[in-house]
Amino acid sequence: MKVYVLDTSAIINYLNRYYAPGLQYYTTNSVLSEIKSTLSQLRLEYSLSKGELRIHDPSPEILKEVLENAKRTGDFFKLSSTDIEVVALAFELKKYGHDVVIVTDDYAIMNLSLRLKIPFKPALMSPISEYREVTLMCPVCKYKAKLSLNENTHIIPTCPRCGTELKLIIRKRRRLNS
Ligand SMILES: [Zn+2]
Repeated sequence: MKVYVLDTSAIINYLNRYYAPGLQYYTTNSVLSEIKSTLSQLRLEYSLSKGELRIHDPSPEILKEVLENAKRTGDFFKLSSTDIEVVALAFELKKYGHDVVIVTDDYAIMNLSLRLKIPFKPALMSPISEYREVTLMCPVCKYKAKLSLNENTHIIPTCPRCGTELKLIIRKRRRLNS
């Protein structure tokens, strides 16, 4: 069965408009807690009571694996912990053999999904046209650093040689068809 994993914008913009019977929708608890509008909440309660929408949080191991990949692409610096959990949920469902699609309008989520080979579809916008991976570089002395996989802070570190704040630069880009 096809499974759609929805981020916060997709819950609000997609589920209302495009709900299709026979599809299973999933999201995380942290997404649910971000839904503030009463109308969206009512729609959610209905979907939950019907079993159309299921809530599941990814395991810590999967979350860690997705975080490490998000550092390779640089999306780690653009995504909230809720966003990361959404991608991790999709990654986990995919590992369990589900036919998963992430519904999102967030370009960083799309980029990370490409790296993890998770299919995605935009809720309202057009999809990204280029896949990117980044690295850290010192703008002064050109020192290059890999993003630390152990550090979970969103603060970009300073250069160990000269103390300047490192910059994210694109080290790999790939044009996408259509
Ligand atoms: Zn430097």
